[in-house]
Amino acid sequence: MTSAAPHILVIGSANVDFTVKVERLPQVGETVSGGDFLLSYGGKGANQALAAHLAGAPVFMIAKLGRDANGELLYRQLIASGLNAQGLLRDAEVSSGVALIMVDSQGHNLIATAPGTNRRLTVADIQALEADAFAGGILLTQLETPLETVEYGLRRAQEAGMTTILNPAPGCLLSPDFLALPHIITPNETEASLLSGAAVTDPDTARRAGERLLALGCRTVIITLGAQGALLVRQGEVRHFPAFPVMPIDTTAAGDAFNGVLATALLEGRGLDEAIIRANAAGALCVTKRGAQEALPTRQEIEALLARV
Ligand code: ADP
Repeated sequence: MTSAAPHILVIGSANVDFTVKVERLPQVGETVSGGDFLLSYGGKGANQALAAHLAGAPVFMIAKLGRDANGELLYRQLIASGLNAQGLLRDAEVSSGVALIMVDSQGHNLIATAPGTNRRLTVADIQALEADAFAGGILLTQLETPLETVEYGLRRAQEAGMTTILNPAPGCLLSPDFLALPHIITPNETEASLLSGAAVTDPDTARRAGERLLALGCRTVIITLGAQGALLVRQGEVRHFPAFPVMPIDTTAAGDAFNGVLATALLEGRGLDEAIIRANAAGALCVTKRGAQEALPTRQEIEALLARV
């Protein structure tokens, strides 16, 4: 891939996740011993970039990592997964993004995150990479990096003729001006409820939330509904896309798989309906495996599921 060819530009986060699996979660001040330790890689930006890469798209990722040991791990892992080195910026002043996770035998968890360098991805960082980054194609971004950086990316990508997708995660309230920026916004149920003020639990309630989001200024809304698939809402059209029937084992990163593959399908010139079907297939495959990045499906797996169902 030459970076000047149309691609999926991901402006987003990368984290190292430290998980300890314990029999039961500790109380305040208590130590629970005897757990198993797992180091894994996450961050919605990195997950979505990898989902698109595995689905066959050329990806240009811009993220900020620390110069600490975790930054080194992240850098090596992202490169080894096939992502570009050029956009992986380093910052020596704060630590890399991390999540500390405890999970008990029933799957209940306690999570604390430190966004670290993800919070230090600036507009100037994006501008420095502009010539290669805004080369046409799709911009895919989330809310784990500063809002002003995301906003700059959305505006600049649109000027460059790119289609822009905002996955508004983690959920936070956004102004109507901000909501009007992306061509496509992809909240899950929780995020759609928060953004619209209308509780979302199923396709009917999602329709109401989607219509409110259109009234607030959103252009095209795709609400992901877990095992209930996804709902597309845009001016004059509401369409439900049922989920692919699978046995879910771990729903981590399902939304990331969905977004990465949605962007990939649009980059390939597919229509929005077909792109949502492919994204649903990717989300379904993701929930059949444990973990985040290790659960993202390959293009072959997506094609096989589409051919089977
Ligand atoms: P998030 O991970 O952001 O909360 P969702 O839970 O809505 O996102 O899942 C994203 C997509 O993954 C869904 O739109 C759907 O296509 C797929 N998916 C999630 N859970 C299941 C499931 N149990 N069965 C089939 N597909 C699923």
